[in-house]
Amino acid sequence: MPKFVYDFTEGNKDLKDLLGGKGANLAEMTNLGLPVPPGFTITTEACRHYLAHGSLPDGLQDEVDAHLAALQEEMGKRLGQADDPLLVSVRSGAKFSMPGMMETVLNIGLNDESVEGLAAQAGDERFAWDSYRRLIQMFGKTVLDIEGDLFEDAIEAAKDARGTKDDAGLDAADLRGLVATFKGIVREHAGREFPADPREQMDLAIKAVFDSWNADRAILYRRQERIPVDLGTAVNVCSMVFGNLGEDSGTGVAFTRDPASGHQGVYGDYLQNAQGEDVVAGIRNTVPLPDLERIDKTSYDQLMEFMARLENHYRDMCDIEFTIERGKLWMLQTRVGKRTAAAAFRIACQLLDQDLIDADEAARRVTGDQLAQLMFPRFDTAEIEDVTLLTKGMNASPGAAVGKVVFTSERAKELAEQGEDVILVRRETNPDDLAGMVAAQGVLTSRGGKTSHAAVVARGMGKTCVCGAEELEVDVKAGRFTAPGGVVVGEGDVISIDGSSGEVYLGEVPVMDSPVVQYFEGELDPAGGDELVQAVHRVMAHADGAAALKVRANADNPDDAARARRFGAQGIGLCRTEHMFLGDRRQLVEKLILAETAEERQDALDALEPLQREDFTGIFAAMDGLPVTIRLIDPPLHEFLPDLTDLSVKVALAGADASDQDRRLLEAVRRLHEQNPMLGLRGVRLGLVIPGLFSMQVRAIAEAAADRRRAGGDPRPEIMIPLVGAVQELEAVREEAEGVLAEVAAETGVDVPALIGTMIELPRAALTAGQIAEAAEFFSFGTNDLTQTTWGFSRDDVEAAFFSRYLELGVFGVSPFETLDRDGVGRLVRIAAEEGRRTRPGIKLGICGEHGGDPDSVHFCHEVGLDYVSCSPFRVPVARLEAGRAAI
Ligand code: ADP
Ligand code: MG
Ligand code: MG
Repeated sequence: MPKFVYDFTEGNKDLKDLLGGKGANLAEMTNLGLPVPPGFTITTEACRHYLAHGSLPDGLQDEVDAHLAALQEEMGKRLGQADDPLLVSVRSGAKFSMPGMMETVLNIGLNDESVEGLAAQAGDERFAWDSYRRLIQMFGKTVLDIEGDLFEDAIEAAKDARGTKDDAGLDAADLRGLVATFKGIVREHAGREFPADPREQMDLAIKAVFDSWNADRAILYRRQERIPVDLGTAVNVCSMVFGNLGEDSGTGVAFTRDPASGHQGVYGDYLQNAQGEDVVAGIRNTVPLPDLERIDKTSYDQLMEFMARLENHYRDMCDIEFTIERGKLWMLQTRVGKRTAAAAFRIACQLLDQDLIDADEAARRVTGDQLAQLMFPRFDTAEIEDVTLLTKGMNASPGAAVGKVVFTSERAKELAEQGEDVILVRRETNPDDLAGMVAAQGVLTSRGGKTSHAAVVARGMGKTCVCGAEELEVDVKAGRFTAPGGVVVGEGDVISIDGSSGEVYLGEVPVMDSPVVQYFEGELDPAGGDELVQAVHRVMAHADGAAALKVRANADNPDDAARARRFGAQGIGLCRTEHMFLGDRRQLVEKLILAETAEERQDALDALEPLQREDFTGIFAAMDGLPVTIRLIDPPLHEFLPDLTDLSVKVALAGADASDQDRRLLEAVRRLHEQNPMLGLRGVRLGLVIPGLFSMQVRAIAEAAADRRRAGGDPRPEIMIPLVGAVQELEAVREEAEGVLAEVAAETGVDVPALIGTMIELPRAALTAGQIAEAAEFFSFGTNDLTQTTWGFSRDDVEAAFFSRYLELGVFGVSPFETLDRDGVGRLVRIAAEEGRRTRPGIKLGICGEHGGDPDSVHFCHEVGLDYVSCSPFRVPVARLEAGRAAI
C-alpha cells in the first residue's frame, strides 16, 4: 500500500508531484531548520483516489490518526483539548500554484469548550472568540458551501450595532454574539449543526479540499493556465500560529526580489494583529515590509536572514508567507515566485552574475513566450497620465491598440475601409463578428474569459484583445457603453486598450516600439545601460551558441527580408510568390487565364517574367550569402479574378451592353469556381495544368540569381514546389525546371546552383516521403496545410466556428494551428523526416508553418532533428531563443 501521509520532516522540495508545491516546500523549509509550525501532508495520490472513487483510500484514516497522534505528542496538547487546544489549519496545495482557487480552513479544533481554553491560555478572550468566528465562517463557506455574504452581512450588522467601521472595533462580547449568529446561519443554510467534534471538523475539511480541485473556478483556471486536469491536490495539516494576538503579532508576505523588476530589496506587505487571509482580502491597510524593522526589529532581521537563505537555497526568487506570534517569527509558505516577463530576464542574469546559476540555467529560466511579450508594442507610459483609465479586463491577447469605438462588425468594416482605426466593442463575440474583428485594431468584450470566442480568435489572429471587462455595460443597440463612475463612451469615441495588462483607457495613448524590439532592430546598444536589454542580449547570445536548429524567416519582400536578417534570421524558409501577382499585375494574370492560344499565353507570361525577376533580385540582395527558399505559385488562380457574384451581377445588369471581355471573364470565373478551393486546382497542380507558368517563375529566379552574381552578390536560391502528393508530380515539374535552369545558365554564362525541393503538406506526401525524396533535395514541412489536411479542419473557418468549444471540452488544450499536434501531425513529420533521410541522407529539412515560431513546436522540431525552422520575421528572436533552450 502506498504511503499517503508525510510528516513535514519527511518530504522535500522535489516531491511536488506527490506533496503539492506547498507541502513540498514546507518540508524543505522544515529540513532547512527554519521555524515552520509542525504538521503533515496528505498526498495528491490520496486525492486522486478520492476523486476517482468518491471515497478515501483504505489505510488513509489510520495514517492520519498516527500522524495526528505524533503531532499532538510533539505539541503537548490534543486537537481541540478543552483547557489548551491544539488548533490546525487544513490547507490545499497542488503541484502548480493556483492562487486563491482552492480552499484553506484555519483554526480547526475550536468549539464552545475549547474556545474558553484558548482564551485562558492566551489571556485574551477577544482573540479566542475572533478565531472561533473565523473558523465557523471559513468552514461554512468552504466545507458547507454556504454563501459567504451571509457571514459578511452579519459582521456588518454587528459593526453597525457597535457603531464601528473596523473589525477591530468589535469586542469579545460582540464576537461571542457573532459566533451564535454564525451557528444559526449554518443551521439554516446547511441543514446541520456546526460540528463541535474537532476531528470531524478536520476530516470534513480534508474532503472539502479534495473536492475543491473540481470547483468551477479551479477547472476554469486550469484550462486557462493549461494545467492538467488529473493531478489532484495535496492537503496540508499544519498546527496554527496566531498573528492576531495583539500588536506584537501580525502576518505578511515577502518577496526576495521585486517580482515586477527583479531588483533586490525588501518587498512585501505586513499587517499587525491579523491572520493570514486578512492580507489577501484587503480588509485593512497593510504597511510596506520595510516598516517591520521599526515594529519588530528582531523578527525583521531574522526574516531577512531567512529570505537570503531561501534564495541561495532555491537559487531563485522566492515568495514567502510568514506570521509573527507575540514576537516569534513563523514561516508558513514559500515557493519560487511568479514574475513578469521583464523580471524573468533580469533575475536570470542577476543570478548568473551572483554565480547562483550557470548560463544554461539562465536560459532555462526564461521562455520564448516571455520574450514575445517583451516585443509587443506598448503604450508610452510617459503619456498615460493624460488619459482616463476606464477599467481593467482580462489580458486575452497582447499588444496595444488605439481606435474609435464601434459596436458592430458592419461599422468596423465601413470605418476601416475609410482608413480609420477602430476598436470593436461587444458584450461577447460570435462567428458573425469575425469580419469586424479582422477590420479592427483590437477587440474589447465585457463578458467571457481567456477561452471565450473573442480571446481565442484574437490570439489566433495576433490581434490585441481585452475580454471579460465586467465593469463595462455594453449597449450595442444604443451604440454606447458605460464604465464605472458613469462614464459613457459612444461610437466614434477613441479608446486605447492594452492586451498585455487588460487596461482600457478613454482617449489616445501613443504607441511605441518596445526597447527589446529597438535592440533587435539595432537601434539600442545592449551595452548602453538598459538592464532588460542587456539581459535579453546575454541570454540570446547563449541560446544562439547552443542551438542546433537554424532559424529562417517567412518573408516575401526585401523589407521583410532585411528586418528578418536584423532579427537574426539565417535565410528565408518561405518566400511566397502569390502576392507578386496582385495589384496592377492582376490584369496580366487575367490575360494569362483568358488566353486562347499558346501565343497569347506566352505573351502574358513574358510580361510577368521581368516583374518577377525584380522581386527576386531585391530579396536575394537582402539575404546575400544566405539561402532563400522560393515557393512557386500556390493558391488557386480564381483568387486573382473578380468575385463570381459581383461579376455575374455586373454582366446581368449590363445585359446586351456587357463587354466581350467581361463575358469571357465571367465564363472563366465560372469555369475555375471550386467548392473546396483549398483542395482544388492549386500548388503543383497549377504548374502541371497551366503550361509555362512554373517555367516563367523558375526563369525569373534563375535570371535574378545570375544578375546578382554578376553584380558581385552571392544568391542562394532554393526552388520549392507546393502541395505535392506523389513523386510523379514532382518529377514532371523538376524536369521542366532543370531545363529552364540550364537554358538560363547557357544564356547568361552564369551557373547559379539552385536546390529543387518540395513542401510536405499532405498526409500522402508525408507517408510516401521516401519516394518523394528521390526527386527532392529538401523538404519543408508546411504545417499549416498539413494540420488542415490531417485533421480535416479548414483553418479559415474552424477557429471561429467551434474551437472555443473544443478548448472548453478539452479535445485539445491549445489550437493545433498554434502549437503543432505532436501525436498526429507530428507523427507524419517524423515519418517523413526518417524516410526522406533514408532515401537521401543529408536531405535538408525545415518547417515553414506558423508553428515555426511557436515555442513548443520549436522544441518538437529540435527533437525530430530538423535543420531549421522558419517563421514570421517578428517571431525570429523567439524561435532563436527556443532553439537554444531546446538544445540545452
Ligand atoms: P493559499 O494557498 O490561498 O495562500 P494558504 O493555505 O497558504 O492558502 O492559507 C491561507 C492563509 O492562511 C495564508 O495567509 C496562510 O499564511 C495562513 N495560514 C495557513 N495555515 C496557517 C497556520 N497554521 N497558522 C497561521 N496561519 C496560517
Ligand atoms: Mg498561501
Ligand atoms: Mg500550403
